[in-house]
Amino acid sequence: MKVKRSELTEPAGSLSARVKSGDLPIEELEVISENVSIRLKIQPIGSDLKIDGTASARLREMCDRCLIPYEINVEPAFELMLTENDLPSDKTDDLDIYPFPSNQKEFNFGPVIRDALVLERAMKKVCKEDCKGLCPSCGINLNRGKCDCHQTEINERWSALKTIDFSNMEE
Ligand SMILES: [Zn+2]
Ligand SMILES: [Zn+2]
Repeated sequence: MKVKRSELTEPAGSLSARVKSGDLPIEELEVISENVSIRLKIQPIGSDLKIDGTASARLREMCDRCLIPYEINVEPAFELMLTENDLPSDKTDDLDIYPFPSNQKEFNFGPVIRDALVLERAMKKVCKEDCKGLCPSCGINLNRGKCDCHQTEINERWSALKTIDFSNMEE
């Protein structure tokens, strides 16, 4: 997703765009919306450009508990700075700084948007907060039905206890 320098430095200071999901370098994610919508707020700071953006997309994920695919809308925010100057060696904050020399005609936001979407992924992906997951014994989806495994498991634990020899614990 390349944006021309002239569009970035326009006085309006904001920019909306729709990018075809297929044009973004995203292999890690299954983006199911045809487009990813981008909003950029651009603020010049000296010769640099500070950009606050959001990207919205619909993703297909797989639930970590029940292994069923589900769909979710995400709208990660991202922040970056484009600079004509050399990158500071003592970069202290989290702001991503990218070189944007004055002879460079456009800036490619593709990798920035990809990173924002990838970072937005939850560590634990669940189809719903109270997903019951799969039974570890028989594999039935516990959101959709019940099984008798739990009962059996308890019985097995008790029967295991019965085999422990308590006879020499009497002292
Ligand atoms: Zn689930
Ligand atoms: Zn079961």
